[in-house]
Amino acid sequence: PLIIVAIDGGAASGKSSTSRLLAERFNLLHVDTGSFYRHITWELLRRNVPSGERTALLAALPSLNFSTRLEGRSARMLIGGQPAGDEIRSQQVNEHVSHYAAVPEVRAILLDYQRGQTEVAKQHGFRGLVMEGRDIGSVIFPDADFRFFLHADPAERVKRRAAEGRQDSIAERDRLDSSRKTAPLACPPGAIDIDSTFLTLEQVVEKLAGLIAP
Ligand code: C5P
Repeated sequence: PLIIVAIDGGAASGKSSTSRLLAERFNLLHVDTGSFYRHITWELLRRNVPSGERTALLAALPSLNFSTRLEGRSARMLIGGQPAGDEIRSQQVNEHVSHYAAVPEVRAILLDYQRGQTEVAKQHGFRGLVMEGRDIGSVIFPDADFRFFLHADPAERVKRRAAEGRQDSIAERDRLDSSRKTAPLACPPGAIDIDSTFLTLEQVVEKLAGLIAP
C-alpha cells in the first residue's frame, strides 16, 4: 500500500520546501495542490472569466482538461495539455487565487484529480505521495497515514517570502482561505500541528521525518 502524507498550512508556511525534501527522503511523489489552484486561476484570468461571474465560471470549468506530467518527483498539472508557466507565482495570481478557490465547484472539479494522484504515484513506482495544500488532511485524504499542519508567525512568513525575492499577499490570502465556507484553512482534527516560527527548514524536515519513520 502507498504511504500518504498530507501537509496543510497557510501561505508561506514552509509546506513546499518541506514536502519536496520529504519526497526525496522517502521516495514519494510530491504534489503541490496550491499550484493546481494557481494554474486554474491563471487560465481563467487569461480567458477573461472572473471568479465573481458565476454563470460564466461554471460554463468554463468543464472545458479545463486536466492531465499530469511528472517533473522530477513532482506532479505537474496540465490544462489542455499545457503546463503552467512562471505566471502562476505572479502577484496577479496571488491576488485572485483565493477567490477562485472559494468557489465550491472549482474545489469539486479538483477532488477526483487530486485523489487520482495515487495512480500517478503507482505508475511511476513511488512508495507513496506527499500532498500539500489547505484541505488535504481534512477533505482529500482524511485517512492519510500522516497528517501535518504547519504554521508560523506572519512576520516570519513575510521574511521568508522576502528572502525568496517574492512579493505575496500572505495575510490577505490566509484571511480569505480561513473564512470561506467550503474547506476553510484550519488544522484538521487529529492532525499534528507544528509551529515552525523558531525552526529551520532542516529542523522541520527532521521532525516530520522522525514521525513518519521513527
Ligand atoms: O499553496 P499556495 O499558497 O500556492 O496556494 C495558493 C492558493 O490556492 C491558496 O491561497 C488557496 O486559496 C488555494 N488552495 C486551496 N486549497 C488547497 C491548496 C491551495 O484552496 N488545497
